[in-house]
Amino acid sequence: MMKILVPVKRVVDYNVKIRVKPDQSGVDLANVKMSMNPFCEIAIEEAVRLQEAGTATEIVVVSIGPAQTQETIRTALAMGADRGILVKTETDMEPLGIAKVLKAVVEEEKPDMVILGKQAIDGDNNQTGQMLAALLGWSQGTFASELSVDGDKLNITREIDGGLQSLKINLPAIVTTDLRLNEPRYASLPNIMKAKKKPIDEKDLADYGVDAAPRLEIVKVTEPAEREAGVKVETVADLVDKLKNEAGVL
Ligand code: AMP
Repeated sequence: MMKILVPVKRVVDYNVKIRVKPDQSGVDLANVKMSMNPFCEIAIEEAVRLQEAGTATEIVVVSIGPAQTQETIRTALAMGADRGILVKTETDMEPLGIAKVLKAVVEEEKPDMVILGKQAIDGDNNQTGQMLAALLGWSQGTFASELSVDGDKLNITREIDGGLQSLKINLPAIVTTDLRLNEPRYASLPNIMKAKKKPIDEKDLADYGVDAAPRLEIVKVTEPAEREAGVKVETVADLVDKLKNEAGVL
């Protein structure tokens, strides 16, 4: 009987070319396509595979965000999660606040494992899973590229600089997903239809009594400097000549 909680974040779709607001206060989210954070899709996929293998018995998906975050939860339900929890807030929360809400959800739901993305592609924080593990005092296996359940333990392969690290950690545990853990499925039409009937419990941030006030102040957001156009050379001799006489690197 293993229950898995998967926190997912709604972010700007990875295909969207982002625009910075004219006042440089952040990224312009008006009329921009939003989707599930890709690393969270990998987390859902892994949970669904554990359920298909008979290892997991229930998958609960949770997301903290504005009302439209419902759509992201529905996507997770269409991929195979059983039910959802939406914690509504209009505040753009930092990882510490998110981890505190998730801790409260974990205490209510009592999962055996929480699988998060290693990173949300909007803020690139890579903090929430680690903070949640610390707040709960649970073991953590971050950047997992392989995962298997072994009784009351988890075997995790981690991608680290220069190689792979194998860990055995105790359940209950926090896992964060790396890119190569799996390839998430697309939800099929019948499963999208079925997901409409799966329950989503709506909560308010206030239900959890978490102080969501930001600890950081964003000073300025700017676009990367434009790259200058390159030139094409006809021959290797031309290339060597330009490197020597124009770029001055030879
Ligand atoms: P981050 O630490 O912001 O890079 O996010 C890492 C992971 O934490 C994400 O892939 C999600 O699994 C989870 N997470 C972050 N923000 C939220 C949120 N607002 N709601 C639910 N899960 C979140």
